[in-house]
Amino acid sequence: MNTLQFPVGDPLHFFLRLGPTERMVSLCTVDDWTVIAWNPVRTHTTFADAKRAYLRRSRQSRGSLPFHAGLIGYMGYDAGCAALGVRTHAGHDPNIPGICIHEYDNAVLIRGTQLCIAGDATFAKTVRAILRRPLPSLNAERAPIFRPRSNRAWYRRAFANAQRCIRDGEFYQVNLAQRFDAGAPEDCRLFFSRLAYRHPAACQAFFESAGCTLLSLSPETFVRVRGKSVYTAPIKGTRPRGETPKQDAAMRRELLGSEKERAELAMITDLLRNDLGQVCIPGSVRVSQRRAVQANPTVWHTYSVIQGKLARNVGPLDAIERMLPAGSVTGCPKRRAVEEIDRMEPIARGPYTGVLLTLSDDGALSSSVLIRTIVARSTTMSLSVGGGIVADSGCQEEYEETLAKARTFLCAGSAIGVTRINGLQAQRTDSRLQLLQPLKARGNAVFETLRTYNGRVFELAAHCRRLRASANLLGLRLPIPLEKIGDTIRAAACFCGPEPLRIKVVVTKRDVLLHVAPLIDRPEIYRGVRAMFVRAERHTPQAKALPYDVSARAHARAAKYDCEEALLLAPDGCVPEGAYSNLFWVRGGILHTANDRVLLGITRSVVLQCARNLEVPVRYALATKNDLLHADEVFLTKTTTGPIPVIRIGDVPIGTGKPGVVTKRIMRAFDSYSGCR
Ligand code: PLP
Repeated sequence: MNTLQFPVGDPLHFFLRLGPTERMVSLCTVDDWTVIAWNPVRTHTTFADAKRAYLRRSRQSRGSLPFHAGLIGYMGYDAGCAALGVRTHAGHDPNIPGICIHEYDNAVLIRGTQLCIAGDATFAKTVRAILRRPLPSLNAERAPIFRPRSNRAWYRRAFANAQRCIRDGEFYQVNLAQRFDAGAPEDCRLFFSRLAYRHPAACQAFFESAGCTLLSLSPETFVRVRGKSVYTAPIKGTRPRGETPKQDAAMRRELLGSEKERAELAMITDLLRNDLGQVCIPGSVRVSQRRAVQANPTVWHTYSVIQGKLARNVGPLDAIERMLPAGSVTGCPKRRAVEEIDRMEPIARGPYTGVLLTLSDDGALSSSVLIRTIVARSTTMSLSVGGGIVADSGCQEEYEETLAKARTFLCAGSAIGVTRINGLQAQRTDSRLQLLQPLKARGNAVFETLRTYNGRVFELAAHCRRLRASANLLGLRLPIPLEKIGDTIRAAACFCGPEPLRIKVVVTKRDVLLHVAPLIDRPEIYRGVRAMFVRAERHTPQAKALPYDVSARAHARAAKYDCEEALLLAPDGCVPEGAYSNLFWVRGGILHTANDRVLLGITRSVVLQCARNLEVPVRYALATKNDLLHADEVFLTKTTTGPIPVIRIGDVPIGTGKPGVVTKRIMRAFDSYSGCR
């Protein structure tokens, strides 16, 4: 077993480096490891074949890792129904097998900054070569458009039918799903990486097969076996996470206070206890956690944990086979619910609501329920979402809940804020997140604010150089090499797609913290903004280092007076820079800007290059208040906006009170350089 350091250990960084020679790739989450395997030695499409393969391969544990080599694959919902003895009839897709399980002899496991190679010396060599590959080019793919396959009238009819069955006592709960279809993404691996980066899920998985590719952001564990211990953890009950700690806690309380959610989970817990009883030693099954709360990045869930000891002669695959389909996606009693689902839903579920499993040769089995999962074919992909219907469900609310579950995917191309520390999704409560708040940030840290144009990070190399210069000024040692920090920033942009992003990277001696959020475009600022003088001076202007409180306070003061920027007025009457920007002014056709007592802006240097290309003369000087108030033109530069004209300082109009000729030429040149507008 080889263990390598994997700085800023996001498993997706490895996954994205896999190329066309790595076929039939699987990625799944096992405990807190991400397992990645490719080029299977065999593939099985029946349960009996998979069981035979497991028995042939089965061996003693080879260490503490949850997977060395073994089986990874799925069993679709319809295959699960067949195992229950119910034949589903609604239009199967003949190209997608009901069961597809790959047999892998090698794998890579990643946890934090640790990368373990489970394989021989040749495989280890391949893995090292993959690690040396650059990240793929950032092709700016448009967001797919998912269209519902059935209309609302269908949902209303199916819902009414479900309620009638519940009233007639045929079942207590039934799960009704609807499907959305879209064109397949150009590159499923890249598309999955974007989704998984922005919406990390407890059981995220990716699985390629000849018939389809599964892209799963499932939060739900199905069956887990270690030795003879088996457990299952069904989820029922969802609320979105709040924006602030207070709202977040209120959402959690609301979920726990809901009688309907409590009853739904209780029914499914009973069903799963019964299912587990079928494969366990009598008397060994117990509910070890009742209504526990799971904090996911975007939602709260409630779940139960049911444990037992597997009966003699029941192997891990037998346990899965006999417990399918998962009770949380059928309803209860299960058989009757499954029959009615088949009648109500117009199309076979296929892999959706089936199970994705990882079975190591030593018998360790992990599996997840294939919900929040895209099934991609060669030209199309589909996404199904459902919810449990009970006696007191409302049609409108249930319909909305299915849409809410789909939302992550329906706006798959749009950027949603993500925060990571050393490659891992940061917890909301993490005190290190304070580093993102300039007024609260304390301690030795340097930072950069970057942006993307069409999926590309603007002047990444220059930002990295300035980050290092700031760190040198502070005497701060970077925790990982600068190229790795650059790599991480580039990968973040690649995960998030073509919409403009604001990327903030904060580096302390221990951490690299990355915050990615949509950049809100405000076209009106390019017609001219108002600024004002604020008495302030930054102590180490050449360093972009936290705390950034002088700038933050000055900027906040200007914002209070409806000004876009604060022009920092030093005690000696000079105005070297803006709170968050560099300052340029034009007098008699000559462009002026300060060369010292300022942070040397990245945008500033691009603008100076544009001026040279346009043959606009440049003079370096420190501005005074009067220079600016009597200038023909003033403009500001910063990364998030590029150059923006200042047409008023306080109440004084600058020049004609409109963007000047030189400013406009510079802005046009900058736009064509950045390729933005
Ligand atoms: N000056 C100061 C004080 C800043 O804080 C910033 C950016 O935050 C700038 C200038 C502009 O620099 P850049 O163009 O690199 O964003």
